[in-house]
Amino acid sequence: MATYDVIIAGAGSVGLPAAFFLAEHKVKVLVIDELPSCGQGQNKSAIGGVRATHSDPAKIQTCQLSLEVFASWKDKYGDDIHFQRGGYCFPVYEEEHEKALKDLLVVQKEYGLDIDWVEGEGLARLLPGINRDGLRGGTFSPGDGNISPMMTARAFYKQAVRAGVEFRFGEKVTGLAGGNGSGIEVRTDKGKHAAGKFLNAAGAGAAEVGRLMGIELPIEPDSHEGGVTEPVKPFFRPLVVDIRAFPGSRNFYFYQEQGGHVVFCLTPEPIIPGLNRDSTSDFLPQSARRLIRLFPRLRNARVRRVWRGLYPMTPDGVPIVDRVRDREGYYVAAGFCGQGLMLGPGIARNIVSLMTTGSTLLPEDIFRSYSLYRDFTRPSEALK
Ligand SMILES: Cc1cc2nc3c(=O)[nH]c(=O)nc-3n(C[C@H](O)[C@H](O)[C@H](O)COP(=O)(O)OP(=O)(O)OC[C@H]3O[C@@H](n4cnc5c(N)ncnc54)[C@H](O)[C@@H]3O)c2cc1C
Repeated sequence: MATYDVIIAGAGSVGLPAAFFLAEHKVKVLVIDELPSCGQGQNKSAIGGVRATHSDPAKIQTCQLSLEVFASWKDKYGDDIHFQRGGYCFPVYEEEHEKALKDLLVVQKEYGLDIDWVEGEGLARLLPGINRDGLRGGTFSPGDGNISPMMTARAFYKQAVRAGVEFRFGEKVTGLAGGNGSGIEVRTDKGKHAAGKFLNAAGAGAAEVGRLMGIELPIEPDSHEGGVTEPVKPFFRPLVVDIRAFPGSRNFYFYQEQGGHVVFCLTPEPIIPGLNRDSTSDFLPQSARRLIRLFPRLRNARVRRVWRGLYPMTPDGVPIVDRVRDREGYYVAAGFCGQGLMLGPGIARNIVSLMTTGSTLLPEDIFRSYSLYRDFTRPSEALK
């Protein structure tokens, strides 16, 4: 049985950067994923938005770390992950939304976020062709942006392999033993492996992997759909979040990636719990209506493809990143809801620090937001 310092379950948005950063610390790592190659879980469902503008201080600081990694990746490692710093824009048409976003600005500025309120005129310059009827203005955070989820997964994978990480694809973690100070034995449908430490980064499968060692993780997936149009001439750069609720959807967000394709996603109302990933017949008509209502000039854009993926949800919309008490060597980084791509590298830097030095990079009182032992009934953060 081969022995490693760390075994990671999951080669996704979080497991891949964690593996790479561990290997940079000279840690011997094995990553196991049941799918045939890297990023094939929820990572490839993401539309690619990456932002530090949140309301939770832990998410703000984590995503600031992530953005540093994304922005410097090409210079440092040479791979193009299609990072584009186009910012995030929340256009506002309703008085109560204006008040809520302006109140939030105070907290966001306290944490050093580059974000401001932009009046209607300025917003229309950022988003040429936006529907001006009732437009009050909106927030704009120019430091945020977007990346290609697949190119990013590939880049982390490539550098991880180069740094010595071993990967076993098409292999499912089916059992765990140990956790009492003598390491952890990882059983799979193909064999057994042993490690000093184990990281559960299994995304939508994390609760199941938790139960393999009697750990209850409150993570329940629900599904969200995305779509992409044919390329059209680039005319806007920010990722736009329309926070208005309409029948059938809570909010809607989209951006134009570097090649001109408009990528979009919608939060269904009510949510659709479960693991079903078959596209629905509701998503496209709803999205098209919302897109054209906001950007009438996109009415002739043709949609190329739609897909449905999962948000691994926690009750309060905040991930679980922690060392498990009473199971020595067992760590969790899961429950990333709709934000695992943007949180991934920042979380990975912290969990790697926790595993190698015993403390996180973020201050303990901030990182506590991610605790497995927190009160999950507190009011939830905005889910996207
Ligand atoms: C439509 C849509 C749009 C989204 N847009 C964005 C966005 O713009 N920005 C953003 O930040 N996030 C977005 N997300 C959310 C993001 O995709 C997820 O939060 C993120 O991918 C979760 O990362 P993860 O590493 O936890 O899981 P994953 O990337 O799914 O990785 C987990 C891996 O674990 C493997 N696994 C599970 N169980 C086992 C097992 N027993 N044995 C072995 N392997 C196992 C899986 O095969 C998978 O590859 C979006 C999601 C959807 C559905």
